[in-house]
Amino acid sequence: RGYPGWHIECSAMSMKYLGETLDIHTGGEDHLFPHHEDEIAQSEGATGKPFVNFWVHKKHILVNGEKMAKSKGNFYTIPDLEKREYAPLVYRFFILSNHYRSQTNFTFEKMDEAKNQLNRLIEFKERLEKITKDKDESEDVKKVLKETHKNFEKYINDDLNIPKALDEIFEMIKKINKIADADNLTKKDSQKALNFLKKFDEVLAILDYKPRKTKIDENEVKKLIAERNKARKEKNFKQADEIRQKLLDMGIEIKDTDKDTEWKVK
Ligand SMILES: [Zn+2]
Repeated sequence: RGYPGWHIECSAMSMKYLGETLDIHTGGEDHLFPHHEDEIAQSEGATGKPFVNFWVHKKHILVNGEKMAKSKGNFYTIPDLEKREYAPLVYRFFILSNHYRSQTNFTFEKMDEAKNQLNRLIEFKERLEKITKDKDESEDVKKVLKETHKNFEKYINDDLNIPKALDEIFEMIKKINKIADADNLTKKDSQKALNFLKKFDEVLAILDYKPRKTKIDENEVKKLIAERNKARKEKNFKQADEIRQKLLDMGIEIKDTDKDTEWKVK
């Protein structure tokens, strides 16, 4: 009688793609009860096997110390953040730099901090790529990498302590930068360090970040969109197309809807 509630489809879909026992199941803290308890009950009842090995529940994110809500206007989507020049990977880095069990408080100051740190990481990677010194590898670098690798794994294995693992990476950057400043970093060293960065990025997936070189001027974008809409009204499609191209060159994509023209960062 009746029809299945919203718990059953989670069991059905996850089993279809991941098998009867999932290794890690994540969710927000509000899913602990009843949703995940129901998932366990119905899945284990059906299969007789453990449904999940590890549960990871993220605490809710606050915005400026308050609960996120559309009605409060403190609700940001990824495109909203992009318009303020925070790439999606900056947000990812921000989330990673807070432990999942702790309460994350979103502020734009913290997003700036995340952006700066991510920039430091990318600058370091680019520096390594430019090292050409043709000499044997240095024992110091070997030692730093070995130590970092060991600690990185230790923290990841300790209930996904990613903030601490990230600290290790930035400690390593400091040490290797010092060696490079003294002109003691060889090409072999930098290759090793780059390989290491790629290895840890299998866990973090942040290295693809490309810092924007040009600034987005929101007023300029709005002005161009208004000009284009005027040109369209006057059936001057050539000019309208030119303005669209100009916006594209600035890294802005536009979409015309019934009401107005929406824009987003490419
Ligand atoms: Zn679910």
